[in-house]
Amino acid sequence: MKTTHVAVSTAVGLALGAMCIAASAATYHETVAGHNGPVVVDVTVDNGKVTAVKVVENKETQGIGSLAVEQIPAAVVKAGNAKVDTVTGATVSSKAILLAVQNALDKAAGKAPAKAQFKPGTYKAAAYGNNGYLNVEVTVSADRITDIKVPGHNETRFMGAMAIDQLTKQVIDHQTLNVDAIAGATVTSGAFKKAVGDAVAQSGVNLAALQAPVPVQGEKFAGTKEEKYDLVIVGSGGAGLSAAVTATENGKYRVVVLEKMPVIGGNTLRCASAFNAADPDRQKALPMTETLKDAVVKAISEKPVSEDHAKLIADVKAKYEAYLKSGSKSLFDCPEWHALQTYNGGDKVGLIPLIRTYSENVLPTLQWMETLGTPVLDRVSQGAGALWQRTHQVNAPAGTGLVGPLYEAAVKQGAKIITGMKAEELIVRDGKVVGVRATDTLGNDYRFIGGHGVILATGGYSQNKELRQKSSPVLTPDMVSTNQPGATGDGIIMAEKIGADTTGMNYVQVYPLATPGTGTLQGRARKMSGLDDVIDVNKNGERFVKEDARRDEFVAAIKKQPDGMCYDINDSSIVQKFNSFAEEVEVLVKIGRIYKGETLADLAGQLGMPAANLEKTVAEYNKMVEDKNDPKFGRKLFDRKIEKGPFYATPRAPSIHHTMGGLLINPKAQVVDTKGNVIPGLYAAGEVAGGIHGSNRLGGNATADVITFGRIAAKSALGL
Ligand code: ADP
Repeated sequence: MKTTHVAVSTAVGLALGAMCIAASAATYHETVAGHNGPVVVDVTVDNGKVTAVKVVENKETQGIGSLAVEQIPAAVVKAGNAKVDTVTGATVSSKAILLAVQNALDKAAGKAPAKAQFKPGTYKAAAYGNNGYLNVEVTVSADRITDIKVPGHNETRFMGAMAIDQLTKQVIDHQTLNVDAIAGATVTSGAFKKAVGDAVAQSGVNLAALQAPVPVQGEKFAGTKEEKYDLVIVGSGGAGLSAAVTATENGKYRVVVLEKMPVIGGNTLRCASAFNAADPDRQKALPMTETLKDAVVKAISEKPVSEDHAKLIADVKAKYEAYLKSGSKSLFDCPEWHALQTYNGGDKVGLIPLIRTYSENVLPTLQWMETLGTPVLDRVSQGAGALWQRTHQVNAPAGTGLVGPLYEAAVKQGAKIITGMKAEELIVRDGKVVGVRATDTLGNDYRFIGGHGVILATGGYSQNKELRQKSSPVLTPDMVSTNQPGATGDGIIMAEKIGADTTGMNYVQVYPLATPGTGTLQGRARKMSGLDDVIDVNKNGERFVKEDARRDEFVAAIKKQPDGMCYDINDSSIVQKFNSFAEEVEVLVKIGRIYKGETLADLAGQLGMPAANLEKTVAEYNKMVEDKNDPKFGRKLFDRKIEKGPFYATPRAPSIHHTMGGLLINPKAQVVDTKGNVIPGLYAAGEVAGGIHGSNRLGGNATADVITFGRIAAKSALGL
């Protein structure tokens, strides 16, 4: 007879195991905490004696912990029990395997599971989360975990911060360390679990007693639940939330936002909050140089490739001539110039009507965001790959200054936001999209009906390797991405199934300056998204590209450098205590994410590059700032010199960032089918839609696009 039951013994909360019984021998599948994470061990016990031990999963260090993995199982089988010596130098790994064996023996002997007994007190431990250390304080009574505090953490609102709240509640409610990471906030979750586990361990409790599984939330039901709204929005990033706020502004419409992840905000929450808009007030202080004039003249002297292009050039020309006539010394800019740069920067494959709608609406969108509470700095700079000094910086960690105000307004105005709800397919009746079929995390089936249709705001597909490789075969599957795991192109797939057309699917943007290895945007020393005061050097301390280049040029140049990486170099004049991701710069230095040197020679020494090279590169750059000319690479931005120590270096490498292609929409955000007809009831906004960014998106154009088109989609759908 075969039977299964749960058998777990682990020091930090890990997966559950199962037991298989065959005749008198039984094999127990035990998970315990090793030195580097979970160690999973299959232990066979026959008549109270261990007859087989197999370590089926482990990450123990090669040459150290791995010795225990090799030697302990045989020693245990020889002894028949867990009373064997640990392997010298691999004590933790040895003890972990022996704990698994002992737990299996206890279960075979029918011993009751351990009961939690603590030495009462408050115990502290720390682990590095996403934005800094989580300093946890766990309070225990004689038999319970009573309180968990993480004072002063910097984890991102809605993301890491939400994970801390949810996991804290789970640990206390269920008296368990066996909690799962919150998807979309895995780094924070991992750090929280580690720090709480370490703190609790100091209380002397048998950690095996804190492994109860967290009961599944919610109920499984049969059949389908149907809910009716005026508008269904799929996705809670910048596009979905801006659509929700717009749709609920007059209080007339019932709106639901479906979000498949446990956290809201999508990639918009992870972004660096750079927002492009021609903004005469904030750009007044920026000077117009001869080099910048040349850039305008070059673009308006080009031979047009289409009527739309000719019209756009003519419009820029008219604005530029009026500008010259005005005698202004401030930077020239206007929506038309923004549009022309967006079109040219995307290699003239974008759709001009969409681009113009975009650039005409971004400033009103930014001003609307400010009325909702988005804090925007007065200084405008040029974001990486932005091509012009029109990048606004939201003064809040990551994308919280955008997502936060939108979320709060949406909720206040009555929009219903449901997380853990994945839209699976569009419901079409009589040729009109009337809703979506969706499933919750238990697999329950729902139909959300929208009287005025559906807005797809599901973001891009940087995390859908199959789609990404198919679309852009130059990418390799092993490439890291800046994106959240939910960026899998669902909206495109759902809409294509009902005949929607796509555009530009082969254009996937790689961001030049992400964190090597993990691919995240975080970890830099500077506050602003702009590169106006930064240079990039290779491992030899030499510049190799103009820092204000397009992103694709920048990536191509980095790939040719030693180890395919570079360093952002800046001085202390642009460093503040926290960077724009709420990371404390000094902590980043301490943990080796960025380097800081009192002098350039000191910095070069830390980076292992010839000091003379770095000093020469910086001296050349400072001369360029004086001359407003970069003879080597043609940089146009010369804001200030790099001269005020200490100096900082941030390692940077490319990471997949944005999918320019997507659903074909018209300027009203209506989705168009492969025959060129509008699909009634279906709208798309944000990264899910294509056509604006052509083959290469300008830095700072994404948040501006998604929030602008989210508004447009809601207005179109509801006739506002
Ligand atoms: P955008 O910038 O275009 O708003 P984001 O990446 O910020 O895009 O947000 C898109 C959101 O849509 C993400 O939170 C993502 O998890 C969510 N999403 C993607 N696919 C689905 C789906 N099938 N159902 C519900 N939500 C989805």
